[in-house]
Amino acid sequence: MSADDLWVGGLGWPYDDLLAASLRGRGHQASALGPLDHDAFERGTAALPRGQCAPALFTTGALLRRASAPDAGDGGRYLRLHSCGPCRYALFGLGYERALRVAGHTDVRLLDLDPSPRALLAMWGEDGSRLGVDALLVGDALAEGLRRLRPRVRDIEALEARAQVVCAGLVAALEAGHDGCDALRVRADWAADLARLPDAPRPRVVLVGEPFSLHVDGPAQLNLPQVLAAAGAEIRVPPVALWLAYQLWIERQPAFGQSQPVAAARVAEVASLEAALRSRFDEMMAAFGVADHFLPDVDHLAELAAPHLPGSWRAGYGHVEVGLALAAAEDGHAHLVVSIKSFGCLPSSSVADAILPAALLGKLAFLSLEVASDGEAARESRLALRLDAARRLAEDQASRALP
Ligand code: SF4
Repeated sequence: MSADDLWVGGLGWPYDDLLAASLRGRGHQASALGPLDHDAFERGTAALPRGQCAPALFTTGALLRRASAPDAGDGGRYLRLHSCGPCRYALFGLGYERALRVAGHTDVRLLDLDPSPRALLAMWGEDGSRLGVDALLVGDALAEGLRRLRPRVRDIEALEARAQVVCAGLVAALEAGHDGCDALRVRADWAADLARLPDAPRPRVVLVGEPFSLHVDGPAQLNLPQVLAAAGAEIRVPPVALWLAYQLWIERQPAFGQSQPVAAARVAEVASLEAALRSRFDEMMAAFGVADHFLPDVDHLAELAAPHLPGSWRAGYGHVEVGLALAAAEDGHAHLVVSIKSFGCLPSSSVADAILPAALLGKLAFLSLEVASDGEAARESRLALRLDAARRLAEDQASRALP
């Protein structure tokens, strides 16, 4: 790889691979940063001072590993976000610089990435931004298809292996410049031949958290989708498209600490981008056979959260996390809400430890689990207890529904 190679990372599988493929499809030299796994976490923990949040640890470790890989050549470029959302607490950027310098990787360049829609459009242009969004939506469809099938198939390993094959096919399609919807449509029957388990009442679990823990598959997410599927639970996780919708929603709000409303023309412009995102999201999900995977309405989430958290809060997922949990209580579908709390994340701790337990009290069972490399057994036993109660509730509801 040359110094022009762009390392795409921070969202994990399948998003990083798909985004890199979409960039290659437009003629850029790009590759995925690599998995956000235990090894990345440990490298990040060794390189950064204490007290950093989980996304800073995972991404710093993955970046150091990528920089020292044999194919890293004379360095690459990494798109650097300064936090996993509109968060003013994280110090990713300074951490990356120091960790790379100490490890002797002074040839790696960090490119600052402002996640606001305005900045992304300026950086990638209209076509590039549209294709980048398409790549994320393709990832949302595949991730949701996999999550739905995990508790239903007899052979989860075969399913996981098949998902990797499908992802590789989607990567090739995007790299060749094919339309994301078409690429999904021809793979919609991707797991139709895998044997299914008999139908049974299943506990339904809604996952919430700050953006990184909620959207990044693997240890950053405590492997909860896999753990819960193995226990026979169905899970609901919002798409990465929600993070995009949240960035757009922020553009319509007064700047932090100010009350002056955003100009009507700008609100209309952003609203049309939101409508386009929603309509493309629906197309993609329908193409892959997960048409009822929905994109939550951020206005509604903010409204639900408002009695507990002001809508002007800007950190992590703020009112989105509270709103998702309250929406689950409102629609009555779930038996349990689990908040995945990023290690060292102040916004996530305040929401998961103080606000959600009170907001959900008497409405819906709630458990908060922290992402850290220790205490795995303790976490799993707390989860097992809650899940058992959720399973009994699901069975009770199913027996009452019988004629
Ligand atoms: S919201 Fe939390 S996890 Fe995300 S960057 Fe901020 S402190 Fe870190």
